[in-house]
Amino acid sequence: MKTMQYTANPCERCGGKKFIARTWKEKVPTYSGKFTEVEYSQIECTNRECQAEFEKKQADETKKKEAIRVKREENEATRKANSLLQANKARSQKSRI
Ligand SMILES: [Zn+2]
Repeated sequence: MKTMQYTANPCERCGGKKFIARTWKEKVPTYSGKFTEVEYSQIECTNRECQAEFEKKQADETKKKEAIRVKREENEATRKANSLLQANKARSQKSRI
């Protein structure tokens, strides 16, 4: 059985123990065009309810961010369409004078 690796700091949500659920290495490109290995670790709360809550919140957060991004893109598209409309209006008004 693998021994649990606990973190030094307790959970900021429930005050319980947190452990390192997994660690992995990723190759990250550097400015010089080479790769460097960065170690990541996923830390989870030992309190299952707390962890589940946290994951739900994270999923919500991701959804919210995505919604904001979509909204922003829509606004940008509307803004562009409007300014084009304004430009066309101005042009047609000018030609009438
Ligand atoms: Zn917790």
